[in-house]
Amino acid sequence: MKKIGITTTVPQEVLIAAGYKVIDLNNIFVTSNSYMEYIDIAEKDGFPKSMCAWIKGLYGVCVKEGIEEVVGVIEGDCSNTRALVEVLRLKGIMVYPFAYPNSHRLEDVKKSLDDFMYIFNVKKSDVEDVRSRLNKVRELLIEVDNLTVEGYATGFENHLYLVSSSDFNGDYIEFEAMLRQKIKEIKERERREYDVKLAYIGVPPMMGDIYDYMESIGAKIVYNEVQREFSFPRFKENKDIYDQYYDYTYPYDIEFRLKEIKKQIKERKIDGVIHYTQAFCYRGIEDIIVKSKLDVPVINIEGDKLNELDARTKLRLEAFVDMLKDRKGWRR
Ligand code: SF4
Repeated sequence: MKKIGITTTVPQEVLIAAGYKVIDLNNIFVTSNSYMEYIDIAEKDGFPKSMCAWIKGLYGVCVKEGIEEVVGVIEGDCSNTRALVEVLRLKGIMVYPFAYPNSHRLEDVKKSLDDFMYIFNVKKSDVEDVRSRLNKVRELLIEVDNLTVEGYATGFENHLYLVSSSDFNGDYIEFEAMLRQKIKEIKERERREYDVKLAYIGVPPMMGDIYDYMESIGAKIVYNEVQREFSFPRFKENKDIYDQYYDYTYPYDIEFRLKEIKKQIKERKIDGVIHYTQAFCYRGIEDIIVKSKLDVPVINIEGDKLNELDARTKLRLEAFVDMLKDRKGWRR
């Protein structure tokens, strides 16, 4: 089966209908034991020190793993991704464009998806068939998400399975079987309660240990914003592929994202928010808006190349959780 790399969530229904095995390059980068090697490859090839680690990691994965075809998001993602795509083209990698229109009008999203289907020579009906099949797997991801809120699945499990839905680990049938087994195992556990419930918003973290660390200090992340968006949790309300990619919050403006975030904060009774930003990413500026629009306390933490929490960030998170515990006690 032909492989195609993606740098962020794109309509994988189209790629699967075209006979591709979809590989999310972010997942290869961040889960690799030698992830720094990917960054080194990029820096040796001229990527600046002052550049987001994800961009360098994606480039390194493409070069080291011999990826020959990639989907590049030319609108709705950052300008760093656009530059990355140009360098990949220069290196002889075949890049197919996809755009999340800035206008966020349904007719523009429709045109963008039609163009994407045209490039891969697939019919809308075939794409809808794949979408229906993937929605069966998405149903299981909703179950994992619910089990997290109910106190059975851990914050890390929630992050891991939802973030993996950008490509279903390259094989949705195998992923579905693994998920069924995992859900069975999770349901057999004892329920665990935590003093504090948290939301994690922003790009997925470089440091996967954040989830276990938060639970070790009595706070559980019960909502992973972007990872959950990757799983298209509102698929039942989306009447077709156009509607689904119109309703996906992450590539559009912050106000649109905040509507869903606020809804989840209320429904999941969340006490505080961790807003993760990546060093050298423009999204760091959005923290100003996030803090002014949410009515629960927000802490901003920034990651760079390290794939585990540093002592200073741990200390700040601990102080944040203490404050939330005091706040809850004081309210009672
Ligand atoms: S973290 Fe920011 S700069 Fe890096 S790839 Fe994502 S959006 Fe772009």
